[in-house]
Amino acid sequence: MTRRRRIYEGKAKVLFEGPEPGTLVQYFKDDATAFNNQKKGIITGKGVLNNRISEYLMSRLSEIGVPTHFVRRLNMREQLVREVEIIPIELVVRNVAAGSLSKRFGIPEGTPLPRSIIEYYYKSDELNDPMVTEEHITAFGWAAPQDLDDMVALSLRVNDYLSGLFLGIGLRLVDFKLEFGRLWENEEMRIVLADEISPDNCRLWDIKTNEKLDKDRFRQDLGKVEEAYQEVARRLGILPEGGPVDVKGPKTVQ
Ligand code: UDP
Repeated sequence: MTRRRRIYEGKAKVLFEGPEPGTLVQYFKDDATAFNNQKKGIITGKGVLNNRISEYLMSRLSEIGVPTHFVRRLNMREQLVREVEIIPIELVVRNVAAGSLSKRFGIPEGTPLPRSIIEYYYKSDELNDPMVTEEHITAFGWAAPQDLDDMVALSLRVNDYLSGLFLGIGLRLVDFKLEFGRLWENEEMRIVLADEISPDNCRLWDIKTNEKLDKDRFRQDLGKVEEAYQEVARRLGILPEGGPVDVKGPKTVQ
């Protein structure tokens, strides 16, 4: 890593000062954590794959008009992003029961939900990211009602678009987590998609076999974690046989 001012270090990424004001460099690490940091490990090559996968998905979303913080990928592990003021809410969209929803309500994993469900969690490691309601978010001033409306509308568009994109490559988008930020441009504020979209924060199951191709392989010690991330990248057409050089479109699965 070059010597640059480190702005923030999270569990899976480091943010450095960017080359121009208003930009940051997002560096993807191989570190993996689960269960609020109680389980720690390294998934070799994960950072490189997530950098590419997130670049790909953020670029496609931007093409359909979803504003994001992503500017461009810089190298194997780094991407240039716009500096935003992160809203301290994790927005989870669910299509199929899994993880904490299955546990909380006793719904077997894999049960399709009657409609997509959105949940909010307050970003706080000390408090273990508690689930919160709109009332908490607006009353405590974490986001204004209008911000929240924008976040929900964008999340539903992301869900529709990504569900279709993954279905086309034989993957079911079970659930995922998004983060948003405020981007200031000449006194105007816009809510944009921030952080990353990768198998670290999505549940992706093979349509035919229900095989898990995401971080649950790490959480549940299922093995072949790196291979799963690689398989997602391969199906997206961003990891051709010869290595992660050529960027092609996704291969449709019949
Ligand atoms: N998720 C995440 N970061 C978190 C919590 C959840 O990216 O801090 C993602 C997770 O990968 C899954 C979705 O959000 O795709 C829903 O996670 P859930 O609430 O079921 O929690 P988990 O079972 O992961 O603890």
